[in-house]
Amino acid sequence: MADFIAGFFAPWIAYSFIALAHIALPARRVEGYVRDGRTGRPLRYRLNGPLVLAVAAALWVLVGSAGLLSWDWLYLHRWSGLAGSCVLGLLFSLAVVLPAPGTGRAFLSDLYRGRRENLQLFGERVDAKMLLYLAGATMLALNVLSFAAHHLATFGSGASPGVILYACLFLWFVVDYLVFERVHLYTYDIFAERVGFKLVWGCLAFYPYFYAVGLWAAAALPDPGTPGRLLAVYAVVFFAGWTLSRGANLQKYYFKTRPERALFGIMRPRALGDGERRLLCSGFWGIARHINYLGEILMAVGLSLCLGRPGLWAIWLYPLYYVALLFPRERADERRCAAKYGELWKEYVRRVPRRIIPGLY
Ligand code: NDP
Repeated sequence: MADFIAGFFAPWIAYSFIALAHIALPARRVEGYVRDGRTGRPLRYRLNGPLVLAVAAALWVLVGSAGLLSWDWLYLHRWSGLAGSCVLGLLFSLAVVLPAPGTGRAFLSDLYRGRRENLQLFGERVDAKMLLYLAGATMLALNVLSFAAHHLATFGSGASPGVILYACLFLWFVVDYLVFERVHLYTYDIFAERVGFKLVWGCLAFYPYFYAVGLWAAAALPDPGTPGRLLAVYAVVFFAGWTLSRGANLQKYYFKTRPERALFGIMRPRALGDGERRLLCSGFWGIARHINYLGEILMAVGLSLCLGRPGLWAIWLYPLYYVALLFPRERADERRCAAKYGELWKEYVRRVPRRIIPGLY
């Protein structure tokens, strides 16, 4: 029982530490894309994700080296950790939603989708959405490290190179997200979603635990003996996805912030305009209207394949989740853009007919 309680509250302690580190450590101050409903000015943010992650990982190394906790402690306590994160996610959602004025929808809908569009605390020092994403990303990195440590501790020199590759690629995924935190201020979650259970529980419970579901399922299994050349192919699949996703996000970010800037110094943006608004129709945004979603799915497929167990159904949950999330999201974003951009969007659809998969869909 004591063990369960320790595991249950471990994420609470980790999230408190991450919040304190985020508040206390130096940060870049930047303007975002979302505008303050009252003043009309862009919201301002403090971003220090890579630094917070580095401090949390260093602490994990210190605690492990000092023998205070085993390297795979989070793996051994994953079920209680997940339970603690779920409860915290629910409590935090209630704390954010209950004091806010209702939107006119049913209470459960308000609780799930949220009431406030944005929530900033201590002046502009903490933005709830950005802190939640930082907390989830950092906890995900710690889980991946701990799950991989369990595999290494169990199999020693016989450990699977695929598991090590999976852990490295997942850490790349998290570090990349935090390095480009500013770019994410221009994404759907930040400008279109409210702060409710979906976002809070999603960041505190779903993101750090479900995203690692492949390694959760495979960490205790022996090396499947995947040939090195296949692992190289899987890494290529991952990086092909990363290129599409990161490239598209960056290109749109530059287009919104410095419209004339060429991506990587070579890709000059071509845009459709109606005199008032403009839409990119070149580079990544000329291949398909949401090529970034294909990139995300490819990254997940590459990661899952690295584990070398295509017959293990649990490893496919992660890529399938992206399909279930992003295909409907593309439809929702399409409706939003069609309403916002009108004829201009129709012209864009004529120029770039594919939604997500070039030549197919
Ligand atoms: P997008 O980055 O595609 O953003 C869509 C918005 O971009 C539109 O609403 C519109 O906003 C603008 N836009 C669309 N087309 C154009 C165009 N041609 N030119 C200029 N602006 C355009 O989607 P998301 O915000 O959903 O996703 C952002 C990233 O986050 C993606 O890479 C996605 O894959 C990733 N993601 C990752 C997840 C994860 O768990 N790892 C989960 C979900 C998403 P506006 O009206 O402001 O112009």
